[in-house]
Amino acid sequence: MKEMSKAFLIDTSKCIACKACQVACKQWNGLPAEKTTNVGSHQNPQDLSAVTWTLVRMSEVETDGELKWLFLKDQCRHCEDPPCLMNSSVPGSVYKDEDTGAVVYTKKSKYEDFDNLGCPHNIPRQDKNTGQVLKCTMCMDRVKNGMLPACVKACPTGAVNFGDREEMQVLAKDRLNAVKTTHKDAFLMDDMEDVSVFYLLTEKEELYGMVRNSMGASVFV
Ligand code: SF4
Ligand code: SF4
Repeated sequence: MKEMSKAFLIDTSKCIACKACQVACKQWNGLPAEKTTNVGSHQNPQDLSAVTWTLVRMSEVETDGELKWLFLKDQCRHCEDPPCLMNSSVPGSVYKDEDTGAVVYTKKSKYEDFDNLGCPHNIPRQDKNTGQVLKCTMCMDRVKNGMLPACVKACPTGAVNFGDREEMQVLAKDRLNAVKTTHKDAFLMDDMEDVSVFYLLTEKEELYGMVRNSMGASVFV
């Protein structure tokens, strides 16, 4: 881990599903809108894609006799030892930026064996026309120039936080202690040594629509 490594804290207790983060990502990265279908959910589109690098996932559940809406901004976790980097079959297609810890895909990230990339969180998506594999870049161009990632800048509630890794780890623990006073099941989803995107959930992960897969990672089904 580099001294200057960066991390996100996504505090779902503060998310209101406004999708400003989702729109800001598209705007900054020049990603087009997708034609979607209303399937009776506020979540739109239904999944990540080559042109949707972050997605506010929504689930509507009844727990403890209460109806709850749960929101979670899904994106690349910028893993510390990224399986996608280890498994990539094209030299120079994926690298981990030394300053920020961002895992970045280059223009060379075109694979015939895309299914073997092995992302435990099921994040990268392949453009069917070009073969290019794409995902969140941590807004490296912004961060390297002293700016916040576009999604962080756009979030109006403090649900998406970004900063030095150690600072985010401290904030995550502090927020967990605070949120636990009102949400008994609140927890930090992943080991903070493994990823650079820390998630504070207010409920068990299955209520958000996730399961633990064989690699021990939480993934949407
Ligand atoms: S979450 Fe997936 S795509 Fe992102 S760095 Fe980790 S393995 Fe790679
Ligand atoms: S901008 Fe913030 S509050 Fe709005 S959907 Fe994204 S994470 Fe949630």
